[in-house]
Amino acid sequence: MSGYQTRQTAIAAVTNYKPTNQPLNFAETSPAQIFGSNVFNDKVMKAMLPKDVYKSLMKTKNAGEKLDPAIAGPVAAAMKEWALSKGATHYTHVFYPLTGLTAEKHDGFLTPDGEGGAIAEFDPKLLIQGEPDASSFPSGGLRATFEARGYTAWDVTNPAYIIENPNGTFLCIPTAFVSWKGHALDKKTPLLRANQAINKAGRRFLGLFGNDIGEMVVSNAGPEQEYFLVDRNFYFARPDLMVCGRTLFGAKPSKGQELDDHYFGAIPRRVLSFMLEVERELYKLGVPVKTRHNEVAPGQFEIAPIYEQSNLATDHNQILMTTLKSVSKRYGMACLLHEKPFAGINGSGKHLNYSLSTPSQGSLFNPGDTPHENMQFLTITAATIRAVEKYGKLLRAVVATASNDHRLGANEAPPAIMSVFLGEQLTDIFEQIEKGSLKGCKTKDCLTVGVDTLPPLPMDAGDRNRTSPFAFTGNRFEFRAVGSNQSIAGAQVALNTMLAESLDFVCDEIEKITKGDASKLGAACQKVIQAIMKKHGHIIFNGDGYSEEWQKEAKRRGLPNMKTAADCLPVIGDADVVEMFGKYGVLSPEELHSRVEIYHEQYNQAIKTEALLVCKIARTIILPAAIRYQGELASTAASMKAAGIEPTTSILQDVTTKLRKLQANTEDLEKLMEKKNFKSVEDEAVYKTKKILPAMLAVREVADALEGVVADDLWPLPSYQEMLFIK
Ligand code: ADP
Ligand code: MG
Repeated sequence: MSGYQTRQTAIAAVTNYKPTNQPLNFAETSPAQIFGSNVFNDKVMKAMLPKDVYKSLMKTKNAGEKLDPAIAGPVAAAMKEWALSKGATHYTHVFYPLTGLTAEKHDGFLTPDGEGGAIAEFDPKLLIQGEPDASSFPSGGLRATFEARGYTAWDVTNPAYIIENPNGTFLCIPTAFVSWKGHALDKKTPLLRANQAINKAGRRFLGLFGNDIGEMVVSNAGPEQEYFLVDRNFYFARPDLMVCGRTLFGAKPSKGQELDDHYFGAIPRRVLSFMLEVERELYKLGVPVKTRHNEVAPGQFEIAPIYEQSNLATDHNQILMTTLKSVSKRYGMACLLHEKPFAGINGSGKHLNYSLSTPSQGSLFNPGDTPHENMQFLTITAATIRAVEKYGKLLRAVVATASNDHRLGANEAPPAIMSVFLGEQLTDIFEQIEKGSLKGCKTKDCLTVGVDTLPPLPMDAGDRNRTSPFAFTGNRFEFRAVGSNQSIAGAQVALNTMLAESLDFVCDEIEKITKGDASKLGAACQKVIQAIMKKHGHIIFNGDGYSEEWQKEAKRRGLPNMKTAADCLPVIGDADVVEMFGKYGVLSPEELHSRVEIYHEQYNQAIKTEALLVCKIARTIILPAAIRYQGELASTAASMKAAGIEPTTSILQDVTTKLRKLQANTEDLEKLMEKKNFKSVEDEAVYKTKKILPAMLAVREVADALEGVVADDLWPLPSYQEMLFIK
């Protein structure tokens, strides 16, 4: 296929690939046997902890009661004993800084005994609190370097676990990461706070319907994770993939995803081996992965777990991403979690299936089949509609990153416009309520029973919609705008807090009408839903979110269409957002301010790195290749001329024109990159969006055009065709 040495070697390595791993044998050890085997879970704790300690811990874990510090001693002792029995030599507080990554610092259990020997020790204080030297993590001004201390605090609600390495194992303790003043420096702390907020508001809401029976209202997440796999030989021959996680150059392959022949197709053998090992590793860590399949783009796949309570699901998704990356190496591949590794074909997202539930009621977004349940369901759904309309900009902002910008609105992922898909039948019901009374619904078996009561609803949402960013899918909502590389914490922090605010609003309104008279509840709900529909109903959209018409229609409806991170990141500092997060104790004004700062810095840094690499690759890889080809053409033309044959020089001219343009465009980009001293990070982000990104694209366009004319045996970068189709 290619004559170029690097590419040839890569292709040879790929086609000669032989697995080095021992094959796995699921018949010998079944998934059920390994599931959770490396987790310090409830079962282990029950067996190892004194009864009262276990009971106290469960109260904190399951009922949200305050942690009794006295239990740290026995828990630490048991945890150490268990970890040592698993061969652990070290422990680490795992935390989730605002980089979106997982951070860990290892400490040995080994302590000298003062007599020349050593013992394994684990001070209970070290279980509860750690102090990593974490001054280099972004804090957005919350923590000046002279007071660099950041503390990690044990998150009792998620279990500790063991990570294996061929040469040993270590104990991981999930923690929150805060500054010495208690400011959140991470993704977990606000999630835990938002969970508290939604529990409180959720229980108040259920109480109105006589359904608060002392159980916690929790939020759940089922993240469907998309990713790409490419062979590592190609990966290392592409500096852009290695450094930025996406290709900054590359002409479209002659065959892309047009035929949809990859979607749900047979999984290639090597990829399946990889998936089986990923799953096995995840089983050990108690991550309930369930589905796997090919995705739409060639080389793209998906893995999805069974949904879990939000905090656990979030840690598990981080573990899942780490596992995908580490296991892919063992199979000679690189796992790309970037939202848009390849231009012109689908990118990767992370559909966040989201619901609120209680143990006995299950999902509160389940329509149920009695009018009584329906009333509660319709009211909470109305509260959700209100929340997404009122805080749509925030919902857009929490998924805004430099990389996700390439995906949102690119006719493959939900548009940047936030809207709610309800399906035809539900929409019809809400529209009827808006008009004043509910006469009946579209299917024959759900007719209205009376004025105050609402009809049984169809269990199945009916139609499926793939283009909506926020779709009702039967018993949950699916937020589809989250990026594949992102932590799912941010989206859940926003959703839980928005919903807490909206549920409180709904409760206030209902109570104003009923004044405690339960017989007025039905009428009150209808009234409140009606008012919500009038004010916020325009967020509902069941049509094609990819279409041009929707862009126009959304504009007419006054829905924001914030296309870039630079447009929407500042929203996190908007007055109404600050007020909401403050009211629910989820994020203080300072914490929000620091986040705005950090997210902008990350955006700016990401684009800066890419732009520098665009220039470097253009100058040192693409330009030389094209010049060599130009030289070949020129000398051929000269020899022909010498032989008395008039050469056709159209190719030479074409290459020369393109070369000049490549040089000129690269110089333009370099010049634009010289600008420094921005007034603020926001200013810099706007500049990066408006000036740098288009200039990068201009370099790419000529380079990709050159790829189409330069002799293949001179082209140094593995092509899209090679990376996507050679397995
Ligand atoms: P699809 O691709 O059809 O959307 P998947 O099976 O790939 O479906 O993923 C659906 C995800 O939604 C799974 O993670 C599943 O556990 C999760 N899920 C199902 N019910 C709920 C619920 N009530 N709350 C949150 N997530 C849910
Ligand atoms: Mg799916």
